[in-house]
Amino acid sequence: MSVSRPAVFLDRDGVINENQDGDYVRGWEGFRFLPGAVAAIAALHRAGYPVVVVTNQAGIARGRLSAAALDEIHAQMIATIRAGGGDVAAVLHCPHHPQDGCDCRKPQPGMLRRAAAQLDLDLSRSVLVGDHLTDLQAALAAGCRGILVLTGRGRSVCDEVALHPDLATVVVVKDLPAAVDAIVASAGR
Ligand SMILES: [Mg+2]
Ligand SMILES: [Zn+2]
Repeated sequence: MSVSRPAVFLDRDGVINENQDGDYVRGWEGFRFLPGAVAAIAALHRAGYPVVVVTNQAGIARGRLSAAALDEIHAQMIATIRAGGGDVAAVLHCPHHPQDGCDCRKPQPGMLRRAAAQLDLDLSRSVLVGDHLTDLQAALAAGCRGILVLTGRGRSVCDEVALHPDLATVVVVKDLPAAVDAIVASAGR
């Protein structure tokens, strides 16, 4: 009988890598790690957290991005993270259109629940780092804590988060390295 572990869920665009203005990252050449992101993921790995990437990629449903191109981006992303001393336990993506009514597109918690079932994760002790309201809503719907970073779209949604009483527990930090510092520090208390 294994004991469920806490995980750190990371949104991808705007948290790990730069958002592409008004477009999807459609190939590895368009993928730019944000400053300190690779080192921050390595620190999570050293602290013993499985890192799970959960990303909405409606570009697939819209025909703007192929599933093969997305797989290639993620393979390269994971290789770079591993070369930097980190690891990624899983990458889950939602390929659906916002109108599809799927259970995985954030703010729905489907990807988090699926990862929890696959990897035996304890959602109540897990945290999600995101740059958008929908990330935080998915986190809370799954019973996780939420951290908002001010990279990506974070700065523009920060005020909005403050207006949502249900998001009162959300912690706001500068970027992924700061989020990781906060996660590791709170685990040590
Ligand atoms: Mg994002
Ligand atoms: Zn979906």
